[in-house]
Amino acid sequence: MKVDAIVLGAGIVGVSVAAHLQKRGRSVALVDRRGAGEETSYGNAGLIQREGVYPYGFPHDFGALLRYATNRTIDAHYHLSALPKLAPFLFRYWLNSRASHHEAIARQYVRLIEHCVAEHRALATEAGVDSLLRPIGWMQIFRTEKELQEAIVEVDEWRRHFGVESDTLDRAALRAAEPHLDQSLVGAVHFTQPDSVSDPGALADGYRKYTEKLGGKFIIGDARTLEQNGAGWRVATNEGTVEAGSAVIALGPWADLVTVRLGYKLPLAVKRGYHMHYKPQGNAVLNHPMLDVERGYFIAPMARGIRLTTGAEFANRDAPKTPVQLGRAEPIARALFPLGERVDQEPWMGCRPCTPDMMPVIGPAPKHANLWFAFGHAHHGLTLGAVTGRLVAELIVGEKPFVDPYPFRADRPGLR
Ligand SMILES: Cc1cc2nc3c(=O)[nH]c(=O)nc-3n(C[C@H](O)[C@H](O)[C@H](O)COP(=O)(O)OP(=O)(O)OC[C@H]3O[C@@H](n4cnc5c(N)ncnc54)[C@H](O)[C@@H]3O)c2cc1C
Repeated sequence: MKVDAIVLGAGIVGVSVAAHLQKRGRSVALVDRRGAGEETSYGNAGLIQREGVYPYGFPHDFGALLRYATNRTIDAHYHLSALPKLAPFLFRYWLNSRASHHEAIARQYVRLIEHCVAEHRALATEAGVDSLLRPIGWMQIFRTEKELQEAIVEVDEWRRHFGVESDTLDRAALRAAEPHLDQSLVGAVHFTQPDSVSDPGALADGYRKYTEKLGGKFIIGDARTLEQNGAGWRVATNEGTVEAGSAVIALGPWADLVTVRLGYKLPLAVKRGYHMHYKPQGNAVLNHPMLDVERGYFIAPMARGIRLTTGAEFANRDAPKTPVQLGRAEPIARALFPLGERVDQEPWMGCRPCTPDMMPVIGPAPKHANLWFAFGHAHHGLTLGAVTGRLVAELIVGEKPFVDPYPFRADRPGLR
């Protein structure tokens, strides 16, 4: 089979690249070892985070570091055995999270983030899956007045510098918006711009179907077989060898399986995370997704039930699941909202594909012609899927990119 472009990986990033290429008249073979949107893009918290202008940094205050060191928190957990291998990544991540560096990164990152809702809405509408996007925003909820006031100051800065919009809810307003929550909460910050996706896996699969409707082909195959073929590329699939003028690596946490073989030493790592779905008890309803800021877990109303997601687990990508954060969060979440029985047989686990400077890798591969990178989206891969898809497609076909891709290139200082 001969096509214009091979897109490796059918997570939300790969399917978005494929749809945008096919829309521009380029024939695409979208290749994955399994169905579209069945890995990380299946199990996330479902937020398209317009407010996420500061990518999640490594804490710098001594108290937080001490708390994490005990390895007993809900928001972070680590495998001691993984730390020696992770240490160089963590050190660089920590350096980049210093206030001045973090702010400089946010100023570049916002150029992508500011388009996230509009780009998903446009693509989802064309794909006929816009009903999966709910314009309900999401909330940070607070147990103490002190934390609420600190958050109000912080989001006011985001509003002034980055156009982030939010409402503050006092105790009564929160009670009116979410009558079934624990009544002792003091209030919330409600980010009003983000969309919440009721079924993130279905969104990715909807983009896959749209690509096929436009003439693209979805094929099961192993990305590790990618090799150069003259000026182009080829990959082995269940339907034979596919040849193409260009190839895009959109393999999320598995990108290194291909990039290392091609001679790239990118400092990539993963932050693992878990989810579990619950039935609500009786007639209890959760109207918004929400982060229990002072406890460090997230709950969201989703198609399958109420999805509880956990923070970062620092571990080797392929190590067995250790859902201790889920175990710690569950009783606290049950006291927050009347959760009923578990829906899933076992906790789901996914790996956020991370870079030490917290920004994704988007653009041409520095050492190979006609090879493109689209990975490393960390906590914001769902958020930035459609933005990255459009940007990479524009670069490949030679259109003027709607966002300057330079800060996200693979040979930037933050990745050397
Ligand atoms: C608990 C949790 C909560 C999150 N919440 C949010 C959120 O609310 N908002 C947000 O924006 N982001 C969130 N994220 C992050 C987001 O889910 C990821 O950044 C995003 O899904 C990454 O998408 P991707 O397409 O790069 O990777 P993936 O979705 O992992 O896709 C990679 C694809 O590559 C394929 N693949 C791997 N190896 C091979 C191979 N050898 N051959 C062929 N194919 C291969 C896989 O099968 C997979 O389909 C969350 C993540 C977690 C874990």
